[in-house]
Amino acid sequence: MTQSDQPTRRVAIVTGAARGIGEATARRLAADGMAVAVVDLDEAACANAVTAIHDAGGTALAVGADVADPTAVAAAVERTVAELGPPTVLVNNAGVLRDNLLFKMSEDDWETVMAVHLRGAFLFSRAVQKHMVDAGWGRIISLSSTSALGNRGQANYAAAKAGIQGLTKTLAIELGRFGITANAVAPGFIVTDMTAATAARVGMSFDDFEKAAISQIPVGRPGRPEDVAHTVSFLASEGAGFVSGQVVYVAGGPRC
Ligand code: NAP
Repeated sequence: MTQSDQPTRRVAIVTGAARGIGEATARRLAADGMAVAVVDLDEAACANAVTAIHDAGGTALAVGADVADPTAVAAAVERTVAELGPPTVLVNNAGVLRDNLLFKMSEDDWETVMAVHLRGAFLFSRAVQKHMVDAGWGRIISLSSTSALGNRGQANYAAAKAGIQGLTKTLAIELGRFGITANAVAPGFIVTDMTAATAARVGMSFDDFEKAAISQIPVGRPGRPEDVAHTVSFLASEGAGFVSGQVVYVAGGPRC
């Protein structure tokens, strides 16, 4: 289906979209013809992404919201409805790391990661689903990770990312009859501030960290935010309506 065949201009919300994978995804969905609410903790930090979308001829709105705060989530969705229209595409992307081995992991490290990734995805999905049900059409795409399969130093993050997969499959079952699909995208090594922070934490230069990662990636290169954005674009498209409850690994090779 071409863009001109699309019945209406879709409105998308992308969380954690001030930078990294979220920014690339917001820009891609705008290039696909959607009006995009660029949501991040700090509204001012969304300016670059919004300007890039406007400069490319697209429509975008900067919205400051903490995805873990139900009042802020409700306000962000209301503002999107008022300024862009009812959202029918949601990308749950906001994320943080609080890596540590289990014996050193604090309760705060655990709660923070659960709140942003898992509670945030729940709160935004719950707030947006009404608009999707009203429209009889929707796409919920949530960022999981290869770490969902287990990763040293990431008990909190792995649990949250595995939780996103269970949430996604359940949303697919509950919401399918309203024309809504739910899928998870699980990236491997993607070059962003998040992977730079991981390199710093383990005491490696980013170059060495990247080389070590590439040596384990069958396609022999690091992932880029645009690789993930392309996958989200497919899952958000009109033609992807029969793909639901899936976890798509975007990792340059197989994962299971
Ligand atoms: P990133 O560069 O660190 O960007 C994450 C964004 O989320 C930041 O703009 C951050 O804002 C925002 N954010 C954090 N907490 C938030 C909150 N409570 N409410 C709203 N926004 C919040 O990360 P990334 O690498 O692009 O990752 C994006 C997603 O992909 C995450 O869910 C991550 O777990 C997942 N992922 C990434 C990789 C990878 O290799 N990079 C691999 C697998 C999965 P601040 O700048 O204010 O903190």
